[in-house]
Amino acid sequence: MLNIVIFGAPGSGKGTQSARLVEKYGLNHISTGDVLRAEIKNGTELGKTAKGYIDNGQLIPDALMIDILASVFDSFKDSKGVIFDGFPRTIAQAEALKTMLAERNQEVSVMLDLEVPEEELMTRLIKRGQESGRADDNEETIKKRLVVYHSQTAPLIDWYKKDGKYSHIKGVGTMDGIFADICAVIDKL
Ligand code: AMP
Repeated sequence: MLNIVIFGAPGSGKGTQSARLVEKYGLNHISTGDVLRAEIKNGTELGKTAKGYIDNGQLIPDALMIDILASVFDSFKDSKGVIFDGFPRTIAQAEALKTMLAERNQEVSVMLDLEVPEEELMTRLIKRGQESGRADDNEETIKKRLVVYHSQTAPLIDWYKKDGKYSHIKGVGTMDGIFADICAVIDKL
């Protein structure tokens, strides 16, 4: 199985590139942000808890996220592989992912780090907020999310380098060009 962690700051293009990977390689896709937004839309207890964190640009507690991830992962049957989009976001989540996969005789195949300069992220997210109306894509919350990214999520770059899974992808340029760079990495696995 191909288990791909697609990584990067908010607005780095993880969702866009994941959709293309799903199509090209026939993979399953877990976007933890999408899962949480669906829970909010459906008015579930989990959604109510998640909303407070999301609207404030904060991360949902690790224990909750790890349970959600495992249950979505186990719902895939005869999967060719999975794209993890927006998970892990903390070292504790990366460790939990490694353990969860090991318990299923699997491992992360590669971590793709989509790197995009900060000003570009800001521009993209403000534009996305105007087009999609996503509540957390407003300037104040975006700034908080970027602070959270740098303090809690970016340390995963070194974590995956040490784990021998890290691959850098330049996240600016055309969508096709970025996708070609990603495919070149995957096709070598
Ligand atoms: P995303 O759609 O990936 O940008 O996620 C939107 C929001 O959902 C984040 O700002 C967090 O509040 C929450 N979220 C998504 N994935 C996670 C995760 N793995 N751990 C904690 N919070 C998450």
